[in-house]
Amino acid sequence: MKLYSTLDRKIVDIIPNKEGEMSIYSCGPTVYFRMHIGNIRAYVNWDILHRALLYLGYDVKRIMNITDVGHMTSDEDFGEEKFDIQASKEGVQPIDIANKYINTVLDDFRTLNILAPNGQVIPEELTYEGVREYGWPRATEYIEQMIEIIRKIESNGYTYETEQALYFDVTKIPDYTIFTGQRLEEKEEGVREEVGVDPNKKNPADFVLWMKKVGKYANHIMSWQSPWGEGFPGWHIECTTMSTAILGKDFDIHTGGIDHIPVHHTNERAQNIGAFGHDAVKYWIHNEWLVTKDDAKLSKSEGNASDLPGYLSLGYDPMDIRYLFASINYRTRIQMSKEALDGARNARLSIKRKVQELGDTVGNVIPEYIDRFKIELENNLNVSGVFALLNELLKSSNNKEDTLATVLEFDKVLGLDLNIEEEEDINQEVEEYAKQRDVARENKDYTKADECRKMIEDAGYIVMDTPEGTKYRRK
Ligand code: AMP
Ligand code: ZN
Repeated sequence: MKLYSTLDRKIVDIIPNKEGEMSIYSCGPTVYFRMHIGNIRAYVNWDILHRALLYLGYDVKRIMNITDVGHMTSDEDFGEEKFDIQASKEGVQPIDIANKYINTVLDDFRTLNILAPNGQVIPEELTYEGVREYGWPRATEYIEQMIEIIRKIESNGYTYETEQALYFDVTKIPDYTIFTGQRLEEKEEGVREEVGVDPNKKNPADFVLWMKKVGKYANHIMSWQSPWGEGFPGWHIECTTMSTAILGKDFDIHTGGIDHIPVHHTNERAQNIGAFGHDAVKYWIHNEWLVTKDDAKLSKSEGNASDLPGYLSLGYDPMDIRYLFASINYRTRIQMSKEALDGARNARLSIKRKVQELGDTVGNVIPEYIDRFKIELENNLNVSGVFALLNELLKSSNNKEDTLATVLEFDKVLGLDLNIEEEEDINQEVEEYAKQRDVARENKDYTKADECRKMIEDAGYIVMDTPEGTKYRRK
């Protein structure tokens, strides 16, 4: 498998620590709201990676964290705590907020055929209570382990303490800014306004390992005892702890969006070095953004991103959205627009129609196509190559049964339900003409029936008189 390694700045061969295995940590959702469509892009991309590795025969050990405490409104340390804000808005406890939105993550993942991090299909009955067994560790369940790791970082000499917090001193890591290649002074520009909050913070880029329940956070709702006083963990230590506690101090792949490169992953790497003397991650892999038509990142804070139910209410099928994200490489920016979604929908339905024409009998897979499919996957998840291959297969002269068997193999990775029959929704205007046409035909008024047929065709549909009655589908 070849993937783009952010630290190597190029596509590299992914050589796992243990042959045949692939341990993966995916930065997961902060569950204080229903995730937006930009988050979903990330999860579909990494679901494709996960399914591809399974298909290629790897023993995949994957987890995805759930952040349910300690995430501030900005990626910096002294924002407002997202859970506290949402809890007071909804008049409940922060933990209830987390539980509620974990359930919506499960709903959205199920709707989009995204596998659980442990590789299983998410059962209907799974709720927030059972997620751990499916590969979703929750930050609040790892507080003890976080304190352990912070103590290690402290005894290795990478920290200092103020009245407000225990900090990681980034100047102790010589190549701290390796991800971005920035000089530390450049990086510090962006976080300068924070210095005022804690006058004893030494460098603007230093970050919190443990925030004390004092000062600005005296009323913080969730807190735990620690060697540094009552308080709560910083966001970055959550990921370092859960990843290494479960996957070990040397794991293969860490995924996340490119927004995490300059702060969150830079800090996770620093913590790994502080705690274990080396970075626990072998390959850092990042997905590009989902953006607006004006190329702005879709994000909760900008208020420019709708959630999955929002898009479904516009009449799109969940598989239109999955198709859009699955058909474009994880390193390519995607614009979210009506045109993009309509294009995805048409391309998907066109493939599906061809698959339906293959009938129901599943023959034998065609080895040549499976080999070429694997080559595309191994080539940095070249999904456009996969779809070109799929279209070539559907046009080929192979028999229907074997073609179907091969398509179904492709769909193990694509997850697009290509063999499941789908009622195409017909727009209201067409439905009206369709009814009028049926009445006209019953009355043997063929002139009127023909007129209706023409109106239906002009609206972009094909009329098919089949033994089971008249059917309509998009051209
Ligand atoms: P967060 O809950 O903000 O940490 O986001 C969860 C995941 O979604 C992270 O891996 C982010 O990098 C990713 N993400 C957030 N917004 C976008 C976006 N507009 N496009 C792609 N990925 C995103
Ligand atoms: Zn993370």
